Amino acid sequence: MPELPEVETTLRGLEPHLKGQSVVKLVVRNRRLRWPIPSGLEAKLRGQTLLGMRRRAKYLLLEFPHGHLLSHLGMSGSLRLLTGDLTPQKHDHFDLAFANGMCLRYHDPRRFGLLLWTKREPAMHRLIRHLGPEPLSDKFTGEYLYRLAQKRKAAVKNFIMDGRIVVGVGNIYASEALHRAGIHPTRPAGRISLARYQNLASIIKIVLAEAIAAGGTTLKDFLNSAGLPGYFAQKLLVYGREGLPCGTCLSLIRNLTVGQRASFYCPKCQN
Ligand SMILES: [Zn+2]
Repeated sequence: MPELPEVETTLRGLEPHLKGQSVVKLVVRNRRLRWPIPSGLEAKLRGQTLLGMRRRAKYLLLEFPHGHLLSHLGMSGSLRLLTGDLTPQKHDHFDLAFANGMCLRYHDPRRFGLLLWTKREPAMHRLIRHLGPEPLSDKFTGEYLYRLAQKRKAAVKNFIMDGRIVVGVGNIYASEALHRAGIHPTRPAGRISLARYQNLASIIKIVLAEAIAAGGTTLKDFLNSAGLPGYFAQKLLVYGREGLPCGTCLSLIRNLTVGQRASFYCPKCQN
C-alpha cells in the first residue's frame, strides 16, 4: 500500500513538471474508483491552470483557480508522468493531459483510490477535516501523544496508526518506530511515560523522513517509470523479518497480529 513517504515522493516528483501548466483534457476510462469520478469533471478541468500541489495525510491536493482535485492512491494506485502517446494498459483509469505535453496517468488494479473535486477549502472536506496532525509538523510531539493517550487501553500500535491521532503512520513505519523506541506494540497507550512518548514522536519523524529521503533517490527515474515511483530501499529492522535475529540482541523477531495487522517486534528489546 502506498504510505505517506510514497505519496510525498509522488508529489515532489510531479510538481516541478506540472505546476503552472494548463489542462488540455481529462480522459476517464473507468469512473468506478472507491467513489465514482464525478461526471462533468472533464469539462470542469479543461483549460484550467494547475496552480500548485500539496499533500495532506495521504491525499494529493491539486489546486486550480476554481477548486481542488483530491486524489488518493488507495491500496494499489500510482500516478506517473508520461511524455508522448503511450497506449493505456489495463487498470490505467484516467489521464490528465497538460499543455506542455506531459500526461499524468493513474493506474490502480484494486480501484480503492479516488479522484474527487471540491470547491471548498480542502481542509474542510469530509474526508480530511477529522484527521489528526501531520507527523512531520511541529504539532506532533511527545507531549501531544502523551496527552491524548491518557486512560486509553488500546494497544500503542493501534493508537499511533489511528488517523484521528496522527496521519500517515502506516503499518511498516509503526512497527519500525516502536522497535527503535523499544516499546512493545501491544502495550496500552495510556501506560507509557511522557519521556517514552517524546522519544517515540521523534523516532516516528526520523523513520518517515528517512523513507522520504530514500524515495528522493528514485525521483530521477520518475518520468515514464513503470508502476510505483518507489517502495524504498530503506533498511527495515523488524518489518517482514519474522524468525530472523534482531540486529541489537539476536533474539528472533516475532510477528503478532495487533488490530488485524501483522506486527513485527523483538521480544527482548521491546517492552
Ligand atoms: Zn532485540
